[in-house]
Amino acid sequence: MLQVNNIDVYYGNIHALKGVSLEVNEGEIVTLIGANGAGKTTLLKTLSGLLKPKHGTILYNMQQIGGKPAQGIVKNGIVHVPEGRRVFANMSVEENLELGAFLRKDRDGIKKDLNRVYEMFPILNERRKQLAGTLSGGEQQMLAIGRGLMSKPKLLLLDEPSMGLAPIIVQQIFEIIQTINQEGTTILLVEQNAHMALSIADRAYVIETGRIVLSGSAKELQESEQVKAAYLGGV
Ligand code: ATP
Repeated sequence: MLQVNNIDVYYGNIHALKGVSLEVNEGEIVTLIGANGAGKTTLLKTLSGLLKPKHGTILYNMQQIGGKPAQGIVKNGIVHVPEGRRVFANMSVEENLELGAFLRKDRDGIKKDLNRVYEMFPILNERRKQLAGTLSGGEQQMLAIGRGLMSKPKLLLLDEPSMGLAPIIVQQIFEIIQTINQEGTTILLVEQNAHMALSIADRAYVIETGRIVLSGSAKELQESEQVKAAYLGGV
């Protein structure tokens, strides 16, 4: 479904991604784990068209999308849920969700997806008129994911959904990520929380200072001494 081949991405002189290659097959949950500043967000921004790779190709369903405008990429089904749950604080929960559908014209489909989001996140249904800025951190993360779902993703890019949340909320969010995947959406999950990410992923990549240094099945990485020492707290 997605093939990233040898991309280099720069911010001015800063070489943030160095020859990164990875692939995501339809139906998978793939996770990219790495420390702060490793380049995870940069990769997602490049996939969703916010940054242009200087070299290399990005193929989505065999079409080259590297450097193409972000709006077209969303229309084709690649939807990015950014880090830090960027919800519109002064708009209601429901208005935020409706914004996720702003490129769609299929009213019936939009209504159906809105109901599905409320089923998946009953707390959002209870708070549909509440201003998004007054939600708890976990609720805002749920809203950010719900808004992503309203764009009808085929490939959902999730940037650190566990960030700053209590373990029980992280658990809930990861269960929902699995449900979304089981319902047919392919997922690329970027995480610092390697333990949780590897527990739900099929395959994984490890990124360090802009380079992919390891890859394999999630199980192989969970058992790797290098991953245990660096990302799983030595357990
Ligand atoms: P984090 O979890 O902290 O967000 P990350 O793995 O997502 O980390 P990136 O945000 O992709 O890391 O950053 C990769 C590198 O690019 C870092 O060295 C960072 O300082 C640099 N970088 C990111 N954004 C910019 C920017 N707008 N201008 C210049 N350098 C940037």
